[in-house]
Amino acid sequence: IDWWDNVGIAPKDPILSITEAYFADSSPRKINLGVGAYRDDEGKPVVLQCVRDAQAKIAGCEFLESLSRQGSMKLVDESVKLAYGESSDVVKEGRFAGVQALSGTGACRLFAEFQRRFRPEAQIYLPAPTWSNHRNIWRDAQVPQRTFRYYNLESKILHFEALMDDVKNAPNYSFFLLHPCAHNPTGVDPTEEQWREISYQFKVKNHFPFFDMAYQGFASGDLDRDAQAIRIFLNDGHLIGCAQSFAKNMGLYGQRVGCLSILCKDAKQAISVKSQLQQIARAMYSNPPVYGALLVSTILDDPDLRNLWVKELKVMADRIIKIRAVLRKNLLELGSPLNWDHITNQVGMFCYSGLTPEQVDQLTNKFHIYMTRDGRISMAGVTTENVAYLANAIHKVTK
Ligand code: PLP
Repeated sequence: IDWWDNVGIAPKDPILSITEAYFADSSPRKINLGVGAYRDDEGKPVVLQCVRDAQAKIAGCEFLESLSRQGSMKLVDESVKLAYGESSDVVKEGRFAGVQALSGTGACRLFAEFQRRFRPEAQIYLPAPTWSNHRNIWRDAQVPQRTFRYYNLESKILHFEALMDDVKNAPNYSFFLLHPCAHNPTGVDPTEEQWREISYQFKVKNHFPFFDMAYQGFASGDLDRDAQAIRIFLNDGHLIGCAQSFAKNMGLYGQRVGCLSILCKDAKQAISVKSQLQQIARAMYSNPPVYGALLVSTILDDPDLRNLWVKELKVMADRIIKIRAVLRKNLLELGSPLNWDHITNQVGMFCYSGLTPEQVDQLTNKFHIYMTRDGRISMAGVTTENVAYLANAIHKVTK
């Protein structure tokens, strides 16, 4: 018999297929604005100096087995401090269940699985729009999903009233996925005041906040500032779930280093929750890889390397902030009558440009510029050299 007769081709991932099309294009002018990976102003991928130094520091160490547990525990402790604050009681009292995860995606997947096992009746509310893989992750964990309104396409700002209505109208004890900073794909985050209101309403409704923090430090260049939403919820006494990724802020995309933490009511509960997370992980992939975790924990644990990292992170964030301003300026200088304020108002890796799918197709077909059809521009792909070409192309297709 033919075992796999019933298998058709899976639908292509929208982001990965853009990269394929980009590589197949032979034009020297081509630009890839699809993938959310940082590039320097020459369009090159970056290995941070702090990572190179950490590599040198751990070279030759007997980490393959003996350090694996230790490295992983240190990674979790340092990650949790990064998210909740160095001096947070949660950390001091050990009121969290934390495990190393396969980057941000793996942390979300592990949480989704945990949620289905222990809260099988609850749905997850995802922002509209959100990173497309969130839907796949909670789908595969068989958690029913709903959306809550987040972004106003017309005014290109947070749809705050609608968001609050949806929070109020969701059944009590619902799970909500929140992006604490640099929302993907819109680049629009709630203000501090809005976060306070959201946190208050979550308390009223007894909702569970799950933060997917893939970009800490990338929005403002400041790690604490980018964690402000989490700190506000923490102060209000919420028990939070948090996925952290070191893919973007340490440039460790391929190493898959992340952390999942779940705050608990006391240290005893944390032990139970952690044991369950470990058991779920054990059946899926046994243990997470060691090398990347050692790199991250080495950087976070060494004051010099950590300072260097903070500086390098700021350089990346600042480049993106600066190139946003240049893109907007170029569009205005070309005489575009449209309002491009959102390019500089939005934060993080992405600009939700407002370009229609047809305009994106024109950019690709006429100008060799690749991006998702929702008009999301990965600002990391914009450089001093290509920004004028990009602005001109955007102007041409929006005239
Ligand atoms: N969450 C969000 C919102 C993201 O944008 C991304 C990456 O694009 C991830 C999670 C996953 O990142 P990784 O699994 O590479 O750490």
